[in-house]
Amino acid sequence: MIERRELFPHVIEMNRQARRRLGCCVYLVFDGDEWLLIDIGYEETVREIIDLIRQLDFPLSQCKYLVVTHADADHIQGLKLAQDLLPNAKAVGHPLAATALAEGDRILMYAEIPAQGISIPLPPMRLDQTIDEGATLKVGGLALETWHTPGHTQSQLAFRMGELLFSGDNIFRDGCVGNIDAHHGSDIAAFITSLERIRDSDVKWLLPSHGPVFRKDNKQLQKTIDRLEGYQHMADFGTCALDWPLLDEWEAEISQRK
Ligand SMILES: [Zn+2]
Repeated sequence: MIERRELFPHVIEMNRQARRRLGCCVYLVFDGDEWLLIDIGYEETVREIIDLIRQLDFPLSQCKYLVVTHADADHIQGLKLAQDLLPNAKAVGHPLAATALAEGDRILMYAEIPAQGISIPLPPMRLDQTIDEGATLKVGGLALETWHTPGHTQSQLAFRMGELLFSGDNIFRDGCVGNIDAHHGSDIAAFITSLERIRDSDVKWLLPSHGPVFRKDNKQLQKTIDRLEGYQHMADFGTCALDWPLLDEWEAEISQRK
């Protein structure tokens, strides 16, 4: 058995545990012998992660859930292999993530970006159960409350456990947010609402899907929200923007024969 490096009581993050960067953050939440994983990441690291979990003395038969924060390739490519290695675990995620997985929607899942030559193989995958806003995931005596936080993509979920929020791709330590992209179902207005919800909550710590854990800082959140408000009126964001004031100005100018 190796030493458990708990980030918070009952929470281990596998990159931090391994002391090397494996991929997206993989959170192990446990109470007693029962545990769950939030995201699994790429297929090539699944065996190493599960082997490490075994060395941490968690019984593999006691993995209750494989939680999918959203159906992006870098978060779910390893899901099928993890399901094979952890047959008692239920794969859970938002209904729209279930649809993307069932349909093998490679564009929506960021597995295929033809213009950049990106093509990530994905095995056929299915969720065992869908969860949405308000659903509770229980592990031992702990309860994780599901938040639906669309914006980065429609299926994005976050999970609250007391003062902690497993915040997915909503915001990272440097104030960046998950990629905004029309082909990915990004919605800037919904993103702002999700960030306002996080800002207005009494959560103290954010445990994102990429990079380090950080303390919730409302000034930083506000700065990010203001930035996204700006995006809604910029040509830079194409069909994700609401409008582009320059076109209205131009229309006024040409109608006045300027
Ligand atoms: Zn991500």
